[in-house]
Amino acid sequence: MKLHNHMEDLVLSYVDKLSPQFDSVCKCEKCRLDIAALALNNLPGMYSVTEIGEVYSKIKEMEAQYVADVIKEVTRAIEIVSIKPIHENK
Ligand SMILES: [Zn+2]
Repeated sequence: MKLHNHMEDLVLSYVDKLSPQFDSVCKCEKCRLDIAALALNNLPGMYSVTEIGEVYSKIKEMEAQYVADVIKEVTRAIEIVSIKPIHENK
């Protein structure tokens, strides 16, 4: 068993769905996770204690409820990272 933030899975799945539509955004793993982190900071955490196999049904349940917010925040985060990729700020 482990503590799991289902919002994290939902956000990452939308980063993967939406970022191909933006030619300007870097597709490296660092930027992918930066986008997810920016979006997650503006979304509620959805923690629960899970066992393997339980995660998928939880995401489907949440998706209907939060899809509009998730798309809005992920799109905003993609725009921020495409203007100023954080990997360049070293
Ligand atoms: Zn990058």
